[in-house]
Amino acid sequence: MSVNIEFYKEVTTYLQLNKVQLIAVSKTKPNEAILDLHQLGQKDFGENYVQELVDKAAALPKDIHWHFIGHLQSNKVKYIAPFVYLIHGVDSEKLLIEINKQAQKHNRIIDVLLQMYIASEETKFGFDELTLMELIQSGRLTNYSNIRLRGLMGMASFSEDTVLIQNEFSSLKHTYNKAEVLLNSNHFDQLSMGMSSDYKLAIEQGSTMVRIGSLLFGARVYNK
Ligand SMILES: *Cc1c(COP(=O)(O)O)cnc(C)c1O
Repeated sequence: MSVNIEFYKEVTTYLQLNKVQLIAVSKTKPNEAILDLHQLGQKDFGENYVQELVDKAAALPKDIHWHFIGHLQSNKVKYIAPFVYLIHGVDSEKLLIEINKQAQKHNRIIDVLLQMYIASEETKFGFDELTLMELIQSGRLTNYSNIRLRGLMGMASFSEDTVLIQNEFSSLKHTYNKAEVLLNSNHFDQLSMGMSSDYKLAIEQGSTMVRIGSLLFGARVYNK
């Protein structure tokens, strides 16, 4: 079980040139693999499962920024609220309300990204553009004073069709631009899109954060 250090060095150089941040997606991977990258200076790690994230955060260095990138259930927000750095996949206002409540309890401001539904598949979560615009224009976001909306996140279709993926990322970037104008906030500056298979396409379309797992840590094995 080892980290692809060569790829890490190559990709971080490429990302720095493009001013894009790397979130190393370490879900299902052991603490040692995270420490290997941490030693090279990587501070931002992404996890999908609440219990796994809680365990890793307790065991690993405190200067790690933990990104929650999975589908988050409202009743589990309380476990990550004390320490989570950025929640990428906020896909409903109900979840936003719960994050705000838990952030208040811990006397924190929690940074979030709203997840947009951009893929042509039916299995992915997220807001559509109309719902997002309605939420922004309603002014309700100002009620959630312990949340800082940092931007948007999206996942393209799982497909070999490059044009399809480009179009999905490009439409997300358009939505992001619209939201940015409406919100007119200094804090709204992150667009999380791109994974191992499509991060270069995402960067071409304006991504500011890529979430890369398997190219860094190897393919995931799920044995359940
Ligand atoms: C697992 C996961 C990733 C990383 O996927 P790779 O293909 O291994 O790079 C990125 N984003 C989300 C939301 C994920 O669940």
